Amino acid sequence: MIKKFWCFALLIVLCFSFSSCAKTKKATESAFCLDTMINITCYGQNASEAAKAAVSEIRRIEFLLSPYIETSEIYQINHNAHKSPCKISDETAFVIGQALEFCSLTDGAFDITIKPLVDLWNIKAENPIPPTDEKVNEAKQKVDYSLVTLKDGFISFAKEGMMIDLGGAAKGYACDKAVEILKSYGIKNAILDLGGNIYAMGQSEKKAPWRIGLQDPSGERGEYFDVVELSDLSCVTSGSYERYFEYDGKIYHHIINPHTGKCADTGLISVSVVADSSFQADMLSTAIFVMGEEEFEKIKDNFSIKKYVVVDKTNNWRAY
Ligand code: FAD
Ligand code: MG
Repeated sequence: MIKKFWCFALLIVLCFSFSSCAKTKKATESAFCLDTMINITCYGQNASEAAKAAVSEIRRIEFLLSPYIETSEIYQINHNAHKSPCKISDETAFVIGQALEFCSLTDGAFDITIKPLVDLWNIKAENPIPPTDEKVNEAKQKVDYSLVTLKDGFISFAKEGMMIDLGGAAKGYACDKAVEILKSYGIKNAILDLGGNIYAMGQSEKKAPWRIGLQDPSGERGEYFDVVELSDLSCVTSGSYERYFEYDGKIYHHIINPHTGKCADTGLISVSVVADSSFQADMLSTAIFVMGEEEFEKIKDNFSIKKYVVVDKTNNWRAY
């Protein structure tokens, strides 16, 4: 029997109204992009224009980095970089370059060439079925970030069938870019929610850091087990309870261990990371989910991280 679940509520923004600042202009923009609902609320002069411009920026990045949009640079790379080096924009080179460095620092626990395995597991299919070990091993041969060459604005793959998927990184990058846009409009206080990626600018209505609830993975939507306080910081959560399917009583989720080719299984069901950069926090939450906290603690000093919180399968949580 196959069962599929889909919901989007990893982080909960608490205290959302600006009641004590009645004169402060407030604007909220919502949109569906990057396969999730995004909500941006900002305060101050130009709030409305700023929120709209921030959403446009996120859409621009989706059109640049989505592997599903035929005109995107990632799509073009995925279909041509095994034949000959592809010329790419400075921005795409920057994102891929940063991500490759991250792949190396995590010894491939985070690997942007994961797409052949993502496609094989195809968890968004109508009736997904776990692939055979033979198919997994076949796809795994095409997953290896060290076979990507990025040099002088050109990118190439050493093997046919290799493909990049920035699903574990680009939401964070888009979030940071949206923050830059808000700042360019003079916005100092805002909350950006990109389905599991939060960035809190400045202060909340209480003239205090924003308070973000961490979704209890086994609770009702909106039930939280801990609260983090953020001011000019991002909090990103990766979990196995949001994008997954169930087959013969077993859960198969979307975060894959590139070394096994199978769903990451280190006993964790949720990892939340607080950092200055949402891009970094996005990659880190996925990487910690794959590595587990013990392995990550060994390499933690390589990263600029404020805090991280994990929830395990027995619903115990630990903060570091
Ligand atoms: P995260 O933990 O941040 O990332 C998990 C995602 O990263 C996986 O879904 C997979 O894509 C990838 N991944 C899995 N294992 C690893 C690993 N070990 N290392 C590195 N990456 C890994 N979804 C759609 O269904 N249709 C779309 O058209 C679509 N377009 C998108 C366009 C963009 C630019 C982005 C950023 C995402 C898009 N998505 C789309 C969603 C995407 O496929 C992921 O499902 C989503 O980004 C997962 O985010 P997360 O925060 O839930 O999980
Ligand atoms: Mg992530």
